[in-house]
Amino acid sequence: MATQITTSVAEAAAALQAGQAVAIPTETVYGLAGDATNEQALAAIFEIKGRPRNHPLIVHCVDAVSAFRLGRDVPHVARNLAARFWPGPLTLVLYKQPQVSATVTAGQGTVAVRVPSHPLTRQLLEQFPAGLAAPSANRYTKVSPTTAQHVAHDLGERVSLILDGGPCEIGIESTIIDCTQDPPVLLRAGYVTVEEIEALLGHPLMMLNAAGTLSPGQQAIHYAPKAQVFLTELVELQRTVDRLTAAERTLLVISPVAPIARGEQLTWWRIPEDHAEFARRIYGFMREADAAGFPRVLIVRPESIGIGRAIIDRLEKAANAAEAR
Ligand code: AMP
Ligand code: MG
Repeated sequence: MATQITTSVAEAAAALQAGQAVAIPTETVYGLAGDATNEQALAAIFEIKGRPRNHPLIVHCVDAVSAFRLGRDVPHVARNLAARFWPGPLTLVLYKQPQVSATVTAGQGTVAVRVPSHPLTRQLLEQFPAGLAAPSANRYTKVSPTTAQHVAHDLGERVSLILDGGPCEIGIESTIIDCTQDPPVLLRAGYVTVEEIEALLGHPLMMLNAAGTLSPGQQAIHYAPKAQVFLTELVELQRTVDRLTAAERTLLVISPVAPIARGEQLTWWRIPEDHAEFARRIYGFMREADAAGFPRVLIVRPESIGIGRAIIDRLEKAANAAEAR
């Protein structure tokens, strides 16, 4: 059965009502959605992605009232964060109500919820008061999709319907905050920045360090293109290029300024100065690098502030994949 790309919310709703998994647009990345109360749909999501069953899914809801209905003992801090950032790219982890499927939560006592802002998906969510469970619509550990065409390319005929809402405005995954802990803990950096959250809370957010428990699914290898990704600092860029061995000399460099080539086969793509634009384009860069057949990509890390943190997180995971190969 060929994959169909549609702009019809009614068509997507009908397929979801029938228990199918459907790819949907969100402002962050495309999701692979299923009715959060339908075990057949949930099983299809794990199957299509090739995702291990112990990685929980985020439930997307039309508004905070619906989202908080899935949670138990919802703390004030979660309500404050929701009031400020929803609809938007922020996911909150709460203690779950018993009716939330253990398939969604991977058997944990907590559920992750989010209210997305994409207009087509908001129309769709009106029809699913118990929410749509949706991880990113890519195969496990691969680069997240930010257009309907990326989804079709990655999932092929595994997915029968893609709701096309255009290119994603934000381009990287949501920020995830665990609100079951006090103070709340940042589980994944994203477009909503630590600085913004701390300003709202009035105190520092706890963060996971290397020794901390990772959020399930936050494996060290993720977001990985075929090309080997190497990272460097801007001040180290020229030295890094100068030190390349003969075998490494065919290289794509993604950086704010071009390095000087001294006999290497260098291609240079300019990184946007603006972090938000970098975030929007990062997965596209990785896909274009693969499409062009570059074996290696050297990327200059952005500064570790604001959205820069989320970009660094994705780049480091892509680079870990290169090392693990
Ligand atoms: P994805 O939608 O592909 O970005 O993956 C969803 C991410 O949400 C997973 O990788 C988990 O890290 C996180 N997540 C979902 N549910 C929970 C939960 N109950 N507790 C902690 N993290 C969660
Ligand atoms: Mg993902």
